[in-house]
Amino acid sequence: MKKLKNYPTKDPVLVTCGLPYASGQMHIGHLRTYIPADVFVRLLKKMRVDVTFVCGSDTHGTPVLTAAEAAGVNPKELYTKYNQHYLDVFPRLNVAFDNYGTTDDPENIARTIQIVKELQKNGYIYPKELDSPYCDNCGRSLPDRYVRGECPHCHADARGDECDQGCGRYLEPGEILNPRCAICGSPTRTITRTHYYFKLSSFEGFLKEYLQNVDGTKIARNYALGWVNEGLKDWCITRDLDWGIKYPGDESLTLYVWVDAPIHYMSSTEEWAKKIKKPDEWKKFWLPGNGRLVHFIGQDIVYHHCLFWPSMLKGSNYNLPFAIVASGMVKIRNHNFSRSRGYVVWILDDYLDKGLDPDYLRYYMVSFTGQTRDLDFSFTSFAEKTNTELVGTLGNFVYRALHFTKKHFDSVPKGTLDSSLKGEVEKAIEVITDAVNEYELKKYTDEILRIASVGNEYFQSNQPWALVKEDKAKCGEVLFNAVALVKALAIFIEPVMPGVAETIWKQLGQKGPDIHKVFLEEALEAPKAGTKIVNPEPVISKIDDDLLESLKIVIDNRIKVAEAAQKGEPVMEEKETISFEDFKKLDLRAGKILKCEKVPKKDKLLELEVDIGSEKRTIITGLADQYKPDELLGMTALFLTNLEPKKIGGIESHGMIIAIEKGDEPGRWLPVRVDGVPPGSKAA
Ligand SMILES: [Zn+2]
Ligand SMILES: [Zn+2]
Repeated sequence: MKKLKNYPTKDPVLVTCGLPYASGQMHIGHLRTYIPADVFVRLLKKMRVDVTFVCGSDTHGTPVLTAAEAAGVNPKELYTKYNQHYLDVFPRLNVAFDNYGTTDDPENIARTIQIVKELQKNGYIYPKELDSPYCDNCGRSLPDRYVRGECPHCHADARGDECDQGCGRYLEPGEILNPRCAICGSPTRTITRTHYYFKLSSFEGFLKEYLQNVDGTKIARNYALGWVNEGLKDWCITRDLDWGIKYPGDESLTLYVWVDAPIHYMSSTEEWAKKIKKPDEWKKFWLPGNGRLVHFIGQDIVYHHCLFWPSMLKGSNYNLPFAIVASGMVKIRNHNFSRSRGYVVWILDDYLDKGLDPDYLRYYMVSFTGQTRDLDFSFTSFAEKTNTELVGTLGNFVYRALHFTKKHFDSVPKGTLDSSLKGEVEKAIEVITDAVNEYELKKYTDEILRIASVGNEYFQSNQPWALVKEDKAKCGEVLFNAVALVKALAIFIEPVMPGVAETIWKQLGQKGPDIHKVFLEEALEAPKAGTKIVNPEPVISKIDDDLLESLKIVIDNRIKVAEAAQKGEPVMEEKETISFEDFKKLDLRAGKILKCEKVPKKDKLLELEVDIGSEKRTIITGLADQYKPDELLGMTALFLTNLEPKKIGGIESHGMIIAIEKGDEPGRWLPVRVDGVPPGSKAA
């Protein structure tokens, strides 16, 4: 049976992306969701659909808390920093949200409380005693990522709320076997207290029917249906934590992060509505009606989006998701993404700050493999795709057509549209529409490449370089068609390569609406004869071999260092060469430690008062796990004194102690002692 086409549509569409935890830098794994979603939104705009695109940072939950503890800052300081990072980096990737908030915004707190109260009122929440792990050594209870143990389903080593290295199932508090504290490794004891449960089991019938009809990727639906058929347990929605949204009714508990995270899709829409000064506009998506909610997520959060979320919405009388689009995960050189094992590619350090064009990465992320399959990232395959497909096929055709036209005609020559070329463009529009309807964007980028190849063949077989000498009018005819195809391509590529499309649009000398506002069907209209071609230059540049080599070395080193650290071996990390001028900027001096105290509530931090000759400085160091305060007191050691001041554990630090890692004892740091040298003596 052929499925009805859902797009284009007159109904308003809201597209959302799974929220990144504001606990670390953006890496390539994140892009598997945000880039396809942004491409999808831009494609809908090209199809005249009224579409809004929202996202935000997840600031709650144990991922943020544990990262804040490790960094010695409070959770708000941590999330503010990384939220800003996301706000800065998304535009640099040409990912254009209509609103990007945080789950700690007042709108989200208010909406979460409203929904939980509605669920309470409708009888979907009840209290129950729960046995959960407690660490006597750390003096706290251990929700979610604070505990590790054995998955009760597949027996892999798992996190408290998720079997992250095995079967991928969501785990309920108390379910994990042989729990141990994830922070200190101690075995745990069980404490019992009252928690609050959402009656997920009473939504089984609803979910079975809903999941059969929801649009999106099949794999999300089928996984979720499998879980429903196994039978659903009720869901514990509270945690014994200080950080998060307080549970309405018992303020000593906070809501589980997966309660308020998806609700942010709604509150981010409310923030957007306020921003455009139409405060009720969010309702067109979220109150039952024609609005369509389309959630782009990673496959690791299907459980939350296909089971918890529709049930929460149903139980509080909101609109239900129209489509759930789950993408495959990113692997690095065929290894699962893992920061600790070095299998990570950072968006800023490894890509954007190397001067690489975001559009090439966007194209790669969408075109490398199907939406639901895992993507195995390597810089080698990235360079290969960029150089053959984007430079060799697409860029080559655009440059040849525009350069040749400019040289011999200066502007678009007169001509009529070749019917077979027009047929190809019509076909492409159809294929692109299918790709949107199937949420399979590789189909769309493959079609771009096909049209570019059609262009190259057309140019090659008509030989305008010969025609220009024999029959200039006929040559003009050919170039008119070639330029028409360049225009079609500019429109087609805009959703995936908005920056490159802008450049081609300028070279085409197009006036009127900018390329981002041009609709798909305009690809069928040739540019007006007489339009001046402006400075044709290659629009895509090759990834050169030296750059590729240096990128590979960065990743090699990172994996090598991580592997060695796991085995407890020292490793020589190759670092970049610096100039003598750079070295001379370091102000290294002898400093005498006059005071040394533990920073309260921070396990690793010591506060030093250091005499550096000219003055006394406050310097924070992370050596408290290795030295008692009186072991450092009175010592004269080497300090870097012109490091920019930084708040560590809430105290401003004005410098850094130089320590050396003991080669046969990784993780053991020895201060470089210069006892007997007068404070302030300079090192070089
Ligand atoms: Zn512990
Ligand atoms: Zn498992």
